[in-house]
Amino acid sequence: MPLWGKVALVSGGSRGIGGAIVLALAGAGAKVVINYQQREEAALQVKEEVEACGGEALLYRADVAIFSECEQMVQATLDHFGRIDILVNNAGVRRDSLLAVMKNADWDAVLDTNLKGVFNCCKAVIKPLLKQKSGGRIINIASVAGLCGNSGQTNYAAAKAGVIAFTKSLAKELGRRDITVNAIAPGFIETEMTASLAEPWQETLRSQIALGRFGKPSEVAAAVLFLAGEDSAYITGSVLSIDGGLAI
Ligand code: NAP
Repeated sequence: MPLWGKVALVSGGSRGIGGAIVLALAGAGAKVVINYQQREEAALQVKEEVEACGGEALLYRADVAIFSECEQMVQATLDHFGRIDILVNNAGVRRDSLLAVMKNADWDAVLDTNLKGVFNCCKAVIKPLLKQKSGGRIINIASVAGLCGNSGQTNYAAAKAGVIAFTKSLAKELGRRDITVNAIAPGFIETEMTASLAEPWQETLRSQIALGRFGKPSEVAAAVLFLAGEDSAYITGSVLSIDGGLAI
């Protein structure tokens, strides 16, 4: 149990990649806070899976785009589990369209959740982490779009590129306190976020992936588990691509 005694908060931990991250961290012994925004029943299902394997989880509804809700979520984590060691910023949305017709509200919604949400959760967690004086791990889920850009995703790609630059800057700020900050850049992963893509478009995308298939949420979760553990102690400010070779 490499994460025994550790407490992890996973934003958007109720389904998709976040759900798999929760299960991986709990499977390694961590107590987990499962954040969600809307779909409580999905979050409850993940909590039940954790508990069925003998783990402990707390559900917390909060919109990561709102700082006060993130602050309250971190306080609830401290009240319930007494500490926090690992933050995984996974919550994300996409509102794709070409820039010429992109609604201003869709730009704002994606930047608010995908970039400001990372700032809000990190800001809320930093003081408790520093006070504990026992190091920590922050893992931000970016995207291949943040590295390469993507037509129809100026909002999403800009937010994810921002997450990568934010990750590198915060890694420099927190390194001396033994808090590592890393990003993961998934390619196309089988979740609800990609299920809505039309089949011909999915086929075109698959043809661009060296491994010839979409990834599974558990394959991203395995990388998070590595970055959350002791074996990654000397890795900070890095961006790990989990994309089957899409970005080569
Ligand atoms: P998903 O299946 O659509 O799940 C999104 C999760 O984020 C849900 O748990 C959702 O909670 C939560 N969420 C959304 N907005 C939120 C908010 N404002 N506050 C709190 N929680 C919020 O997405 P996914 O595919 O697993 O993606 C997870 C992360 O990986 C995202 O950051 C995404 O950008 C990134 N990513 C995904 C892919 C991919 O191919 N799937 C590729 C690259 C990067 P509710 O259900 O309660 O709304």
